[in-house]
Amino acid sequence: MYTVAQLIGGVWGAGGEEGELVVHDPADGSPVSSAPVATADVIGKAVDAARETESEWASTPPAERAAALRRAADAVEAITDELTAAVTAEMGKPLADARGGVEAGIGTLRQYAELAPVRGGRTLHGGHHAIDFMVPQPHGVVAVITPWNDPVAVSCGLLGAALVTGNVVLYKPSERTPATGWLLAKALDEALPPGVLSLLTGGAETGAALAAQRVDVVAHVGSTATGRAIAAATARTGAKALLENGGSDPLIVDGDVDPVWAAREAALGAFANGGQICVAVERIYAHRDVAEDFVAALVDRAAQLRVGPGRDPDTELGPLVDRRHRDHVHGQVTAAVAQGARVLTGGTLPTGPGAFYPATVVADCRHDMPLVRDETFGPVAPVVVVDSFTEALRCAADSPYGLAATVLTGSMSHAHRAWRELPVGTVKINAVFGGAPGGAAHPRRASGQGFGYGPELLDEFSAVKAVHIEAPGGGHW
Ligand code: NAD
Repeated sequence: MYTVAQLIGGVWGAGGEEGELVVHDPADGSPVSSAPVATADVIGKAVDAARETESEWASTPPAERAAALRRAADAVEAITDELTAAVTAEMGKPLADARGGVEAGIGTLRQYAELAPVRGGRTLHGGHHAIDFMVPQPHGVVAVITPWNDPVAVSCGLLGAALVTGNVVLYKPSERTPATGWLLAKALDEALPPGVLSLLTGGAETGAALAAQRVDVVAHVGSTATGRAIAAATARTGAKALLENGGSDPLIVDGDVDPVWAAREAALGAFANGGQICVAVERIYAHRDVAEDFVAALVDRAAQLRVGPGRDPDTELGPLVDRRHRDHVHGQVTAAVAQGARVLTGGTLPTGPGAFYPATVVADCRHDMPLVRDETFGPVAPVVVVDSFTEALRCAADSPYGLAATVLTGSMSHAHRAWRELPVGTVKINAVFGGAPGGAAHPRRASGQGFGYGPELLDEFSAVKAVHIEAPGGGHW
C-alpha cells in the first residue's frame, strides 16, 4: 500500500486536513494507495510558497534549468520499474503498456531539456539607431492538472515543458493515480531546487480550488466537462488556460482496403488500454464494399484478446479504471442496443471482482447515436456502414469534438482530401497510432485549446516580450 505525501514549498508531508482518499486496484478491488486531500487553504499556501521561489527559478540560466531536467529524467529512469508497477496497480493498464508510458515520459523530459535552452526570439528590423527583439520569459506559477489514463507520459510532458521554461509548478495528479504522481514528483524533486515543484493531491474539488487560485497558467489534460469548468475559472482570474480534453475520434475504412488489415488497425485503436486513450478509435465508418468482411475480422480479433489483470504479463486487455466508469461504458452500449444497434461480441457485464469489460463490437449503428457521437472511453467499436468516402468524411467531421481522426485508404486523393477537410488537430493515414518524434497536437472545438505536446508546448509555457531600445535623445550609442 502506497502512502502518498504532498510537497509544498519544498517540504514533504504538508497539508491534507480534509482527510484522505483511497485508491483501489481495478483488477480485484484491493486497496492500493492512500493520499491526503488538499484544502483550498493548503492550496493557497502552496501558491504563496511558489510565488517566493518564482523569480529565482525564472532568472536561473536556461542551460542550468535544462541540466536539472536532464538529472530529473535520470532520476525518473532509475525508478522505471516502481512507476510501472504503480500505474498498473492504480489504474489497471497492462504492464508493458504502463512501461511504454513511463519510457515515453522520460523521453519527453530529455527532449525538452535539449530543446529549451536553444530556443531564441526574433530580432526585428526597426530604425537604424534602435534595436528590437522578442524574448521568451516564464509565465510565473503554473498549475498542472492531469488525468489517470496515461499518467506518467502526460505529466512528464507538461511538467518538463513548464519547469524547463522557468515556471514554478503546482502539480495535481488524478485522484485515481496519486501514488504514481507522488513517485514521479519525488524523482523530479531530487534533481530540482527546493520549492520549484509542489505536489498537491485530492479529487475534483482540489483541482477546482487550484484552478480558482491566482496562478498564471492552468494546464489541464482531462475531460471536456472539466476543461470547461477550468476555462470558466480562469476567465475570472485572468490565468491562461491550456486544455487538452476529450474526443470521439473517427476511423474511416475506405472501400479499397484489405478488410483484415483494417480490422487489426481498428482493434488496436479501439481496444488498446481498454479504449481509455484520448485518441482511441471511438466510431468507425466502414464502406459498404468491405464492411461485412471488416466487421467479421474485427469480431475475431476482439474475441482473441487475452483478458486479465494488468500485472499478468500475458494480458492484452486489463480492467477499466473503476466500476463507475464501467457503468458509463455499459450504459452507452445498452442505450445503443435499445436504439436498434446489434452487439456482435462483448457487451455484457462480467461477474466477479474488478472493473473488467469485454472487447465489444456493435453493428447496425447510426451516426446520431450517443454511442457514436459521445466519448465512450471503453473497449467498444461501434460500426456505421457508409456508401461513399464522401459520406464517411461528412460523418467524421460532424462532431462536437476535434481531437484526431484516422483514415485507412489506398487512394492518395482520398488521403489528401481527408487531411485537408477534417476539422481535427491530428490526422493519421493508414495507422491508428504512431507519428514522428516531437509531434505536436492542437485540439479543436470541445477537445481543447493550445498545443499540448511537442516543441510548441515550450512556447505555450512562455510569455513572449517585445523589446524596443533606442539611444537617448535619438542619438547614437
Ligand atoms: P478529468 O477531467 O475528470 O480529471 C482530470 C484531472 O482534472 C484530475 O486531476 C481531476 O481531479 C481534475 N478535475 C476534475 N474536476 C475538476 C474541476 N472542476 N476543476 C479542476 N480540476 C478538476 O479526466 P479523467 O477522467 O482523469 O481523464 C479522462 C479524460 O481525459 C478523457 O476525456 C480523455 O479523452 C481525456 N484525455 C485527453 C488527452 C489529450 O491529450 N487530449 C490525454 C489524456 C486524456
